[in-house]
Amino acid sequence: MHRILIAEDEARIARFIDKGLRANNFVTTVVADGHSALDEALSGNHDLLVLDLGLPGRNGYGVLRDLREARIALPVIILTARDTVRDTVAGLEGGADDYMTKPFRFEELLARLRLRLRTASTSVVEATLLSVDGLSLDLRTRRARTATGTVDLSAREFALLELLMRHPAQVLSREQMLDHV
Ligand code: CA
Repeated sequence: MHRILIAEDEARIARFIDKGLRANNFVTTVVADGHSALDEALSGNHDLLVLDLGLPGRNGYGVLRDLREARIALPVIILTARDTVRDTVAGLEGGADDYMTKPFRFEELLARLRLRLRTASTSVVEATLLSVDGLSLDLRTRRARTATGTVDLSAREFALLELLMRHPAQVLSREQMLDHV
């Protein structure tokens, strides 16, 4: 049974998600501020975090940043208002696995959540190193290695390189790249 942490300060939305997930046999914990969200997320008691960006105390980015800095790989789905798409990009750069804009349909959240949980359970055995030709990319340290040495990458460079290396010898559209980076 999967345990989902819901960080949402709008009681109506929190209830809506909570009720829907419990009806689908998830175990849920609801927190309404950023500090509690981070404490709970660090506890290791959850399999996935549904994270609102606009939280009191500590906003969603702060929570996400601290979580990733602590090297916690808990899958995170960001919930964001529709007018903050730019923020969403920042959220993904900050280490979120997915995002949804409000208002959203519960079925879509459920589908994305299940997908992330599946991906997370397979990624345990997935290599943390991508290699294509002479180039390798360490997904944990976010460093690229070539025959001549290592290269430190910015968050955006890393995201782009990761995307390209996951699709070797494929042509990717500008949109696909923007979606990812
Ligand atoms: Ca909010």
